[in-house]
Amino acid sequence: MLMCRDLAVVASDYIDGELSPGQRLSVKVHLMMCRHCRALVNNLRNSATVLQKHSSQQVNEDYFRRVKLNIAQALQDSRDKNS
Ligand SMILES: [Zn+2]
Repeated sequence: MLMCRDLAVVASDYIDGELSPGQRLSVKVHLMMCRHCRALVNNLRNSATVLQKHSSQQVNEDYFRRVKLNIAQALQDSRDKNS
């Protein structure tokens, strides 16, 4: 069974379609049960879309850092709510 912290590790690969079929299934099952990780994947997907739109420009490292911090914060929040 996938844990939230495991999902955070594979979330970007899941969005990019780089997981094996078995891994994808594990992620899908987890997303069905966990609205926190659904929100995480949605946020990541939106971020990826924004980055693709601006792919002709140089990627802003500060932006990446902020996204990662937001994800870490979201995971921290979900842990606090669950405990
Ligand atoms: Zn989760």
